[in-house]
Amino acid sequence: HATKKTMADHLRKFETLFTLTPQRMRMIVDAFTESLEIGLESPGQVVPMIPTFVFGWPSGHETGEYLALDLGGTNLRVCLVTLNGGGKFEITQSKYRLSEEQKHDDGQKLFNFCADCVKTFIDSNIGNSEEMIKSGVKLPLGFTFSYPCSQDRIDHGVLLRWTKGFSAPNTEGQDVTALFRKALEDHKVPVDLVALTCDTTGTLIASAYVNPKTKIAVIFGTGCNAAYMETVKEIPKLKDHGFASDAEIAINCEWGAFDSYKHEHLPRTKYDVVVDESSNKPGEQAFEKLISGRYLGEILRLVICDLIDEGVLFLGQNTYKIEIPYSLDTAFLSLMESDPTDELLMIIGIFTHFFALETTLAERQFFRALAKLIGKRSARLSACGIAAIVKRKDLLDEGCSVGADGSLYNKYPGFADRVHEGLQDIFGDKGLNIVTHHAEDGSGIGSAIIAAMTKQRK
Ligand code: ADP
Repeated sequence: HATKKTMADHLRKFETLFTLTPQRMRMIVDAFTESLEIGLESPGQVVPMIPTFVFGWPSGHETGEYLALDLGGTNLRVCLVTLNGGGKFEITQSKYRLSEEQKHDDGQKLFNFCADCVKTFIDSNIGNSEEMIKSGVKLPLGFTFSYPCSQDRIDHGVLLRWTKGFSAPNTEGQDVTALFRKALEDHKVPVDLVALTCDTTGTLIASAYVNPKTKIAVIFGTGCNAAYMETVKEIPKLKDHGFASDAEIAINCEWGAFDSYKHEHLPRTKYDVVVDESSNKPGEQAFEKLISGRYLGEILRLVICDLIDEGVLFLGQNTYKIEIPYSLDTAFLSLMESDPTDELLMIIGIFTHFFALETTLAERQFFRALAKLIGKRSARLSACGIAAIVKRKDLLDEGCSVGADGSLYNKYPGFADRVHEGLQDIFGDKGLNIVTHHAEDGSGIGSAIIAAMTKQRK
């Protein structure tokens, strides 16, 4: 009979499955660049390339006091941002917890709660809001609302559909700025809502404010997205809008959708196919599903479950805990990769504590190697996305900075280095000209700067 395969033998198979060669990466970059261009041509394409109506870069000289409101998945954050010019700012902020009911209660009530929080914040950090209303003082506010909206100007936006676990009725299909303005008025809040933006666009603007070499922003968190600045004349779908042809406008790429539906370009393993087909939106967000924090842990879990089914792992142990979908968080991959001990004690801890499973050293080395393969593939695919924008904007020779944010970028060990290595595999030595850095807070600072830029234009 055949000799039993060792964990190292198994690993070789996964190395082949999850490794991206430089040649393959270049093919992905070419297809990605084309997708970006198609998105700019007409509305409703796979990569939607949404014009944000944020025109041009901040000068860095924007000054004054602005409010920013960030309606995130779990919290509501109100910020007072003082822009001092010269790329400097100060920020004061408070967070208000959103209850599960509020996410599903009537939309107007949700915005009433937002208005109430802004009012509380003003009263405790700025001054008496009733007095301000009486003397006609209004503070400009930027609203970060990172849900898909259709916009045709900066201070307006129709919610297309809720995401991130919200389902408040009477909101989809409505102008959320109108709902919020009504709430501000009813609650007598001395605020002028001047701009509606998303976190990725905010990250682009905030990073450029402090570092003018920034040309691209990317988010690697629960989801994955990018924004950059495009020239109006290069955006065929805006040709009837009457904007100056050499004006620049920030584009929210929504690039997580690259290669959705047809799946022609990205290297999907059978595990990626399972992630996709068992998701609540099969076929969609194909790029994001190979990269973002929401999915990396699940991919590793599916490989482990496959090996359990084949009788390779955990024979005779009760494996029900690890068979629960999404029970292995991406944070565990970070921990596995950074385990400093020879015995891999961190990995022992994870498996005994969270999954009630005993592991051998060979298995732990295998899990760590697998985490590395999945994490590395995510970073190298991210490099492909960045490279596509670099090609599109011809930024390779002059070089640029890429503002990056999100837990995957900030906490996964070696993620940034792997992105940089990927860029060199794609572009050769010139890849060194493209450097990522930790971005500024897009939904706070970025939103405030966008409010400042909008006021200046008026
Ligand atoms: P969001 O994108 O929701 O605003 P984050 O940027 O914090 O927030 O991203 C959350 C995602 O990051 C989750 O999917 C989580 O699994 C993942 N994550 C959290 N901590 C870590 C970590 N230490 N290493 C890698 N991924 C992490």
